[in-house]
Amino acid sequence: MTIDRNEFAAWAARHRTLFGLNYDDISELLAEWFRSFVAMGFSACELNKATDMIVSSPAGWPTWRDQHLRRIVECVQRQRAERQAAADRRYVDEHAKSACTVCDDTGQVAGLPQLSEVRDGQWRGAKTCAVLCVCHRGQRMLESRHAREWGSEDLRERACYTLREYELANPYWRDQIHAHWQATITRRRAEDATRRLDALRGPLRAVSTLGAALKEVSA
Ligand SMILES: [Zn+2]
Repeated sequence: MTIDRNEFAAWAARHRTLFGLNYDDISELLAEWFRSFVAMGFSACELNKATDMIVSSPAGWPTWRDQHLRRIVECVQRQRAERQAAADRRYVDEHAKSACTVCDDTGQVAGLPQLSEVRDGQWRGAKTCAVLCVCHRGQRMLESRHAREWGSEDLRERACYTLREYELANPYWRDQIHAHWQATITRRRAEDATRRLDALRGPLRAVSTLGAALKEVSA
C-alpha cells in the first residue's frame, strides 16, 4: 500500500536520525520527496527497507542529499526487481509442475487407435495402443530406463514410439476415438431399448409366412 503522510513522517524521522540529516531544515524538500514517493507508489515497508539497505551498504553512506534520494529510489527498485524475479521463478516452478492435459501427467497416452486398424483416416476396429507423450514427463520417460522397459515388451510390433511419431502416421486420432465412442454409445442404447421391449412384450409369437416357409425347407 502506498505510503501515507503519517507513515512518511515516521520514516523520515528515522532516516534523518540514522544519517544525521537532522541538522538541516529540509521539511520543504521532504514534502517534494513525499509527493514523488507517492507518485511511484512506494510503501512504508519498501522505504524502511531501503533505509536499512543504505545503512548496511558496503558502498558507504551518502554524503549528499541528492545521493540519498537516488539511493532510496534505487533500493526500492531493487526490492521490486527481486520480488518480480521471485514471482517469475514461482510461476516457472508451478508451470513445470502443472499437469499435462494430453496424458494427465502420466507421460503415456493410451487408448489410441492401433495403426493397423486405421484405413483412409477411419478407425475400423477396437484395438488400442499407447505411446509416450510429448510433454516433459513423456520426454523424461523416453530418456529413462523406465521407458526402455516399458517399450521393450512390444517394441517390434510398435510402429511408433512417441505421440509425435504417432501423429505423423495418424493425425486424426482424436476424431477417431470420438467416433468410436459415439458408435459404442449408440450401439448400447439400441441394445438397451431392444432388451427393454423384450422384457415388456415377451418373446415373439407370430411367425411370418416367409419365416414358416423357410422353416419347412430347412426341416
Ligand atoms: Zn503429457
